[in-house]
Amino acid sequence: MSRCLAILNETFGYPAFRGPQAEIVEHVAAGGDCLVLMPTGGGKSLCYQIPSLVRAEAGFGAGIIVSPLIALMQDQVAAMTELGVRAACLNSTLDAKQTFATERAFENGEIDMLYVAPERLMTARFQELLGRSRVGLFAIDEAHCVSQWGHDFRPEYIQLSVLHERFPNVPRIALTATADELTRGEIIQRLALDDARVFISSFDRPNIRYRIVEKDNARTQLYDFIRGEHVRGKECDAGVIYCLSRRKVEETADWLVEKGLRALPYHGGMDAATRQRHQEIFKREEGVVMVATIAFGMGIDKPDVRFVAHLDLPKSVEGYYQETGRAGRDGMPANAWMAYGLADVVQQRRMIDESPADDAHKRISTGKLDALLGLCEAATCRRVQLLAYFGERSTPCGNCDNCLEPPATWDGTREAQMALSCVYRAAQAGGIRYGAGHLIDILRGISTERVVERGHQQLSTFGIGSAMSEPEWRAVFRQLVAYGLLAVDHEGHGSLILTEGSRAVLKGQTQVTLRRYVKRQRQRSAEGRT
Ligand code: ADP
Ligand code: ZN
Repeated sequence: MSRCLAILNETFGYPAFRGPQAEIVEHVAAGGDCLVLMPTGGGKSLCYQIPSLVRAEAGFGAGIIVSPLIALMQDQVAAMTELGVRAACLNSTLDAKQTFATERAFENGEIDMLYVAPERLMTARFQELLGRSRVGLFAIDEAHCVSQWGHDFRPEYIQLSVLHERFPNVPRIALTATADELTRGEIIQRLALDDARVFISSFDRPNIRYRIVEKDNARTQLYDFIRGEHVRGKECDAGVIYCLSRRKVEETADWLVEKGLRALPYHGGMDAATRQRHQEIFKREEGVVMVATIAFGMGIDKPDVRFVAHLDLPKSVEGYYQETGRAGRDGMPANAWMAYGLADVVQQRRMIDESPADDAHKRISTGKLDALLGLCEAATCRRVQLLAYFGERSTPCGNCDNCLEPPATWDGTREAQMALSCVYRAAQAGGIRYGAGHLIDILRGISTERVVERGHQQLSTFGIGSAMSEPEWRAVFRQLVAYGLLAVDHEGHGSLILTEGSRAVLKGQTQVTLRRYVKRQRQRSAEGRT
């Protein structure tokens, strides 16, 4: 039996490796470099823990694990110690004496696994220590932190390529749950992993049911969803609700508490102690709903989160995948639910425009947002689309909204033309650009004060769309923006402007297929309550 498998059985108490773990640990234990792309919960830790032990045992020295997450480091060291493994960490939470003792133990070969924060690793003091000690492997966890385009970028990660230059014979294993092509390429390049083997696991999370609904009254929709599927009697499942702003986090948490749920806020603007306390309560107690910004996430390791809800659009498909991936880590059924509307698209586009980033960065952000909008507007299996984004092919899953209730589509070419010419005419009439609300009033022939004031009743598009309701028109505008057939003006507050693509639609050269707007129905389970 291989030494790796023996350690898995004896030390960790697991009967078998999962997925590609066996191949990865053998490769690294034998001294090979690799990049491991595995979804959250896939079992990345064992991929470096077991080779660390095998190589330490064989006399090569300890495994050095670089991790940016102090809480996770401490959890792992505690878990390893529990299993009888000689593990320790070096980070800012230790005092001078503890640091010194750990350094000595490492130097004397009394430690098999040493967890280190990246900023510590590159200090002269630690580099000297490494020079004096025996090192069996380097593991670089959360390797996507090396990517300048991602939101977890850590400048210290860039320097990690130095490890290879200084210790060319020590194998390196880089690990991440972020798998898009761009990030993958950047990790390989920046960490000088050109000759490393790349192991890609399936990113499918079959127990998660994906659902993206059209926003009309998001809070009520959210509450209906939670009541309908996650509350039994007095018991509520554990869940996470993501919002974009701190204020919305607070407001939503307050509102849910009023509704009788045990909701807690979590965001970067709260003091560290309160944040820590809320995280602890969420982790230890049952039935807690955490309302949070994306500040909440990296490092939460609660297996029985039954739902993740988004009240605002994430920035990218990776973001969506990472955040929803916190649901159902125990493998039991879980829900990923998101409410999404025109205002979200406008807001995200504006955030990109207004960000201080350079043009190259903005183009990348725009591309990422477009991919996410494609997922939101998809009329076919969400999972197929999601996995395709990570380069994985699959067949319709039967466990997403589009599979369970295929959305009707319709030929919206004529309505798209009405909407686009309304944008054109209104702007032409006064040289000013307008948002969807006003344009819809014109199309529906409603003489609001603003319409009268601007003389928009005279426009040829006034009233031509009276056959459709306001929400139906909103759905049309949203999809036009999502498809790039309309753009959001850089200066105006959500004003819409024509694009290259608009012209082809107006000329009748492009067909526009739209998802049918579905009027929201209160869920059955919500009926009969007061
Ligand atoms: P990741 O870091 O990829 O998010 P972890 O390494 O934390 O995932 O592993 C997730 C869970 O799966 C942990 O509870 C771990 O103990 C468990 N696990 C990993 N590999 C195995 C295995 N081969 N057999 C049984 N359980 C495993
Ligand atoms: Zn599906």
